[in-house]
Amino acid sequence: MINRREFLETVAAVVPALRLQGTPASEWKAPVFDLHFHLRPEPAANLAHLDGAGVTKANLLTRGAAREQVKGLQAAAPGRFTWFNSYDVAKPDAEEVLTQAIKDGAQGFGELKFHVAADGPELRRMYSLAADLRVPLLIHFQEVDHFPNEGTWSTGFARTFESILKAYPRTTFIGHADAFWANVSADYRNEAAYPTGPIKRGGVTDKLLADHANLFGDLSANSGNNAMSRDAAFTADFLKRHQDKLIFGSDCGCADGHGGGVSQNNNPAAARMAGKCVARETLTVLKRAASADAFQKIVWGNVHKLLRIPA
Ligand SMILES: [Zn+2]
Ligand SMILES: [Zn+2]
Repeated sequence: MINRREFLETVAAVVPALRLQGTPASEWKAPVFDLHFHLRPEPAANLAHLDGAGVTKANLLTRGAAREQVKGLQAAAPGRFTWFNSYDVAKPDAEEVLTQAIKDGAQGFGELKFHVAADGPELRRMYSLAADLRVPLLIHFQEVDHFPNEGTWSTGFARTFESILKAYPRTTFIGHADAFWANVSADYRNEAAYPTGPIKRGGVTDKLLADHANLFGDLSANSGNNAMSRDAAFTADFLKRHQDKLIFGSDCGCADGHGGGVSQNNNPAAARMAGKCVARETLTVLKRAASADAFQKIVWGNVHKLLRIPA
């Protein structure tokens, strides 16, 4: 652990050099906000990814005590970072800790990634709390292991999540990960983490996005990229129909915004992203498939509205 002073000194030493790299927004012809960016311990590593991938702002996903690190990064790069906080939802003090994080400036809960049911008591407490505090929450849905004994996360999406959306109308949900994106296709039955091939219209996720004003989709990770890469005709139509409900995110772990290092945590099921920057790959897919107006909303406008911050 480094203290706040050391942290700020490290940032100050590195940031001026990174700033000289030019205007990152220009590369994508629109400024880009990355909703799904896990806070990295080395301050400069955060900016290296944003600048390398041409990303203007990012939402830092943090777990546990992160306030000081976030404040240091925000001070070093003003206007470029918002943050969400997560904490073990099964612990008795989860509500207290997450309420304090919001008081400290966090703008949402997430990512919530725990071995519990999506409609279980642990997450239900969070759905109520997020509504009370008027902040969105970002959930990782996964039913299929990437490696033996990984376990499942926020289970039951396809079966039960509509009942949650109805039961918590004041809660703003952001869906993410394997089960959320695999279920854009109506023929999905948890066979694979990342199904391939043409998409069968009428999938659960597509319907939920259409029917529920309190659900948004986070396009990050191999899951989001894979879903948008399966069927060009579906993707163009899906992005058009849900252009006000979708938000770009990367969940990329690469070092430099160009695919250096490890992009998807050595997840064997996501090998298609090895050596690539997920941010770049997904921005390329979105740019190709969406109108200029829809692209601007998905990579910039929607998230500012959702977080109620000026664009
Ligand atoms: Zn996730
Ligand atoms: Zn990357």
